[in-house]
Amino acid sequence: MTTGKSTTITLNNGVEMPALGLGVFQSAPEETADAVETALRDGYRLIDTAAAYNNERQVGEGIRRSGVDRSEVFVTTKLWLSDYGYDATLRAFDASLDKLGLDYLDMYLLHWPLPSDFEATVGSWRAAEKLLADGRVRAIGVCNHSAAHLDALIARTDVVPAVNQVELHPYFGQPGLRDAAARLGVTTQAWSPIGGINMYWPAAPQAGRSPLTDPAVTAVAAKYGKTPAQVVLRWHIEHAVSAIPKSVTAHRIAENIDIFDFSLTADEIAAIDALDTGVRGGPEPESITRGAFDIVIDA
Ligand code: NDP
Repeated sequence: MTTGKSTTITLNNGVEMPALGLGVFQSAPEETADAVETALRDGYRLIDTAAAYNNERQVGEGIRRSGVDRSEVFVTTKLWLSDYGYDATLRAFDASLDKLGLDYLDMYLLHWPLPSDFEATVGSWRAAEKLLADGRVRAIGVCNHSAAHLDALIARTDVVPAVNQVELHPYFGQPGLRDAAARLGVTTQAWSPIGGINMYWPAAPQAGRSPLTDPAVTAVAAKYGKTPAQVVLRWHIEHAVSAIPKSVTAHRIAENIDIFDFSLTADEIAAIDALDTGVRGGPEPESITRGAFDIVIDA
């Protein structure tokens, strides 16, 4: 059995999580099992899916096809807004496990804060705490939480989230949120780590701008004989941020995990930090409501 290629991050409950994983948002169901199998054969050990991606079944299939032992794979899925509230969360967790074909999860994340119904957010978190206490999931966390959302949740509940998964790439570096999370013991995980949101989201204020063509990144890539994506992913690792790049393309899947044989200097990290515009590409978390997205979860 091969071991994973990624370094790991120790979460606030002692669980080890691979720092780099594969994301599968917008991976079509027919492409997802292949992408997951390819990634695991290439040395990935973290797969990030969600109920809302409607590809949990194919993630499970890819894991089984890879031949990598279940115990070696860190599987994350997420609770969708339509299932917020205590009882609905417990039902949604069972549905996700069933689709994945697994008997436990490594990480269960609340997909967004729901500021318009914070009671439901707290109810979901209480349910996640129960799943953790019952040993059905090894760690629990949130996504898209601001520092204020984290503080509000922590003030009302018992378990500090292990992870906050947020939009984070060179054009939206979130230094303040990263620092706040670190102070709380919350590991930051980057979605759109190579800037995908600006490429596929027409409403993004910087639509079409990619850090992968930015001279500050391409210069470092040329120096190390690495690709721009590898440099950006390495920048996350240097900041102790977990990253979950999405790809359904075999050579990019291999490329994205081949980042553990070089490191960036403090000046190179600072040069990429300086690309931060403070402007997010995706939705503003404070504005999220249950109906904010046109998503229906398949039965
Ligand atoms: P990414 O920054 O990962 O970008 C993905 C895009 O980049 C795809 O179009 C992919 O194309 C392309 N790509 C991948 N590797 C390379 C490479 N080496 N060189 C050039 N292009 C490349 O954006 P995502 O928004 O997909 O974020 C990653 C993951 O984060 C998601 O899959 C999901 O798991 C998670 N996520 C979570 C959210 C949340 O609210 N919690 C929100 C959004 C994402 P191709 O596939 O064709 O190779």
